[in-house]
Amino acid sequence: MDTNITIIGAGVIGLAIAAKLSEKFPDVFVLEKHEKFGQETSSRNSEVIHSGIYYPVNSLKASLCVEGNKMLYDYCLKNDINHKKCGKLMVALNRIEEEILLKVFKQSRINGVLDGVLLSGTEALKMEPNIYCTAAIFFPSTGIVDSHGLMKQLESDAKINQATFAYNSEVVAIEKLDLGYSITVKEANATYSFTANTVINAAGLGTDAIAKLSGTFEPSYQLYFWKGSYFAVGNGKNKMIDHLIYPVPHENITGLGVHATLDLNHGMKLGPDATFLENRLIDYSVDKAKRTGFYNAAMKYLPFLDEDDLHADQAGIRPKLQKPGDPFRDFIIKDEQAKAMPGFINLIGIESPGLTSCLSIAKMVSRFHIFEK
Ligand SMILES: Cc1cc2nc3c(=O)[nH]c(=O)nc-3n(C[C@H](O)[C@H](O)[C@H](O)COP(=O)(O)OP(=O)(O)OC[C@H]3O[C@@H](n4cnc5c(N)ncnc54)[C@H](O)[C@@H]3O)c2cc1C
Repeated sequence: MDTNITIIGAGVIGLAIAAKLSEKFPDVFVLEKHEKFGQETSSRNSEVIHSGIYYPVNSLKASLCVEGNKMLYDYCLKNDINHKKCGKLMVALNRIEEEILLKVFKQSRINGVLDGVLLSGTEALKMEPNIYCTAAIFFPSTGIVDSHGLMKQLESDAKINQATFAYNSEVVAIEKLDLGYSITVKEANATYSFTANTVINAAGLGTDAIAKLSGTFEPSYQLYFWKGSYFAVGNGKNKMIDHLIYPVPHENITGLGVHATLDLNHGMKLGPDATFLENRLIDYSVDKAKRTGFYNAAMKYLPFLDEDDLHADQAGIRPKLQKPGDPFRDFIIKDEQAKAMPGFINLIGIESPGLTSCLSIAKMVSRFHIFEK
């Protein structure tokens, strides 16, 4: 075999897996179609370290997020990665939302997030005098992280462990051999093939396509793309809050609602919304016409906003396993042994809280049977 372990995709998930597996295994090889790491979803998100409150008990999203939250804070502290445990307020605006808030609070306890505190409207306003709400939950373990700094550190850890990275290298074919796999890669002017004992599909928006190339695809692996756009808040209004402020979540958690996030320079963004992309077209431009909708959603709990404080910012695309109206779907993290593809590991539908969970996902993958030379 030419390589022990080949990882497809150098987003935060592929990088975390590379860093983890290279601690133990020689010959880890990472293939990425872009010229550097983190050019897709991993650099187009809210950079929030979630606490794991939303997801159904026993789901991977719940358990990996709760574990990943702690692992990520430890990793950031150990490696001096810029981050801030600023906490988050989830706010209710009326009686109906207070009931949803209560459900989220109960779910958070079931999921092992024990530090959430239920607050009356008055108590919440003491923490954030410029917002409006009738009740809230404060989650102190939610924070923000410099996602680029995190990915840089993970790449560096993997390189120190002798992992090899091939950028500008797109996987275009995968073939099962008697032992291991043959992988064909397209570079700028050439195509080449090599062999690997273990293949890890961490290709983000491309994971269902890679599953098809490998023959491991099944209908439940079909990805649906949902765009999330952001508007930045200017005119000095970014200084009006000190915590992340979230509304109560959507049904079936298709999105967390237009929320207010802070970055590490105290910039403030509203978003992301959740727009289903029927044609799966990847286009990161932000439709300026959405500004009024964002303003209308956010001004209910951020009454200090004026519409012209908002300007179009970034967008990201969620690789979801749900189309509109579908119930909750969990991450798929699976060794495809049952499909006679031992050592082929698919990670599909790694949407939020994937950034938070990157280290716990890598730990989970390291517990699968890794085929070696
Ligand atoms: C709008 C939005 C907000 C979010 N906010 C948060 C948040 O606040 N907190 C949180 O925890 N999570 C959040 N997430 C989720 C988080 O960003 C993702 O779970 C995470 O970034 C997924 O990382 P990844 O490595 O799987 O995917 P990616 O970062 O997309 O990486 C996959 C890589 O695979 C490469 N690739 C694809 N196909 C091929 C191929 N054929 N050959 C070679 N390379 C290939 C791609 O180029 C890409 O670099 C958010 C997501 C979105 C869209």
